[in-house]
Amino acid sequence: ENFRHDAEERIEQMRLTELLKTDQVTISCELFPPKQGAQLANYKNIVADMAALKPAYMSVTYGATGGTSDYTVELASEVEKHQIPALAHLTCASSTKEKVASVIEELKEKQISNILALRGDIPQNADFPLPNQYRHASELIADIKAQGDFCIGGACYPEGHPESKNKAEDIRYLKEKVDAGCSFLTTQMFFDNDLFYNFLYRIREAGIAVPVVAGIMPVTNAKQMKRILSMSGTVLPTRFKMLLDRFGDDPAAMKQAGVAYAVSQIIDLVANGIHAIHIYSMNKPDVAEQIKSS
Ligand code: FAD
Repeated sequence: ENFRHDAEERIEQMRLTELLKTDQVTISCELFPPKQGAQLANYKNIVADMAALKPAYMSVTYGATGGTSDYTVELASEVEKHQIPALAHLTCASSTKEKVASVIEELKEKQISNILALRGDIPQNADFPLPNQYRHASELIADIKAQGDFCIGGACYPEGHPESKNKAEDIRYLKEKVDAGCSFLTTQMFFDNDLFYNFLYRIREAGIAVPVVAGIMPVTNAKQMKRILSMSGTVLPTRFKMLLDRFGDDPAAMKQAGVAYAVSQIIDLVANGIHAIHIYSMNKPDVAEQIKSS
């Protein structure tokens, strides 16, 4: 009986809504899974190095940034072995509903209660959506809610999602997504905090009341930055462009400057009452550590 109680308590503590509704500052970080199973042991070492920094939780991407979807659940389960809540990403645009349901079953088996539910990018040169596919993240979210007792988060875009006609439309659909069963949101990376504050004001006015986690990307490599920006349409402030121009060709200096920029954004966010910050740490424990020690 006691054992069951402990297990239930542990799972409750692992739910991110409980963590995010406090006014404690929470810093979380992100991992992407390996492309091949043979790399899994190495990735488990990365999990251990990140876990040693004691982030509030660790998210594990699904099929993004060159990783695959095959090892997301396994890596998320590895995170929780370190007594750190895991947030497993789950996308649906490249999967059938049956495939998504099988991943949800796997998450239940491993007792992972936090899911970041996403549509994912629409596959090129393919008909979308097929009859057995979800069209929007909101449809996926409603179905996850129906399939189990999960704590579900969604993505949001302070600068508007690249496919949206305008920000007002994007926020209208965001409200639908939250109403479908999201209990928190995580933002796309941004480099100008004022854009985030403006977004927050607009979504609160639109009646979206759930916690919003601010996504911060420490840019440590100019080439990586150009690739990411071309995909996300994120705007770069002049101050940041000057930094890329000045240090872009010197990897060590770029890393230092990128970390310093991220730290200055985080300090400003915390000073403005933002409690939840997610670091797009891209499997780099050393970068996460530099941010922590700053
Ligand atoms: P949606 O919420 O479905 O929105 C997509 C677009 O559709 C928006 O323009 C929205 O306004 C519009 N829309 C929504 N509902 C409707 C409706 N009912 N009618 C018409 N239009 C509508 N990608 C990965 O592949 N793997 C990951 O692990 C991953 N993690 C991410 C984590 C975060 C925090 C973020 C911000 C993004 C992540 N992505 C990831 C990228 C994401 O999958 C893409 O940005 C994708 O294009 C949109 O996903 P979404 O869940 O925001 O979609």
